[in-house]
Amino acid sequence: MIDALDVMMDHRIADLEPRKHLTAGKAKEIVWKGNWSEGLEPHILLEGLYMVASGIRPSSFHHPSSEREIVLLNGAAKELGLGMRVRLAGKKVYKVWLSGTDAFGMVWTLPDITEDMGPKEFVTAQITMANMTGKFLGYPECCVRSFVEHLMAGTDQDLEAKEALNKFEDPDPRAYFVERFVPCRPDCPEAIREGECIERALSKQAPDMLPDYLRLRDEHMEEVRSGAIIKEKRARDQTLIRK
Ligand SMILES: [Zn+2]
Repeated sequence: MIDALDVMMDHRIADLEPRKHLTAGKAKEIVWKGNWSEGLEPHILLEGLYMVASGIRPSSFHHPSSEREIVLLNGAAKELGLGMRVRLAGKKVYKVWLSGTDAFGMVWTLPDITEDMGPKEFVTAQITMANMTGKFLGYPECCVRSFVEHLMAGTDQDLEAKEALNKFEDPDPRAYFVERFVPCRPDCPEAIREGECIERALSKQAPDMLPDYLRLRDEHMEEVRSGAIIKEKRARDQTLIRK
């Protein structure tokens, strides 16, 4: 097993190739019984690991806050047979992608990017990474386009999402189908459709997990609405700068 120091020396040590899907029952047992279940947040266990390992979602994306989190994700991914890529997107900013065998392949070839490449190249590389990630994660095209447009314009997507959501009296949480995903607008029909698909798959394969999923999804929408997501992002950036 790798440790945090190994990852600090060379984060690519945590890369893994995907193997075939597990049954939903086996995936559930591994996700919630392993050593990692204590150190990873509930949404990572359910949405990032379980839903991918059981084939409900094609892949997941993570912004680990420490090397230890990468070690935990690697331990779980190895046992679940998930593919894993760890890349730098800035000197101390890690991005982690997990997937089964059938997700979009190009993400496996993504390079590390750092600010040393020069500001223009860095932004271009970030845009390429965002486009590939959106495709890899099976996010609706309209929502990926909107995210990339914000990146290009240097505007805050989360702030716009907060303001748009606050205008809705009775918004649909299905559009906020996984943690960190923000739809292009609160009533985006493509995002709502994806939320419906996940609900249907969970009700069929693991109905006992459905209440937890619905609660996490409501919480995520509430984070977007209250702006907690913006505060959290700033706090994370501060921690990374101090490192
Ligand atoms: Zn959309």
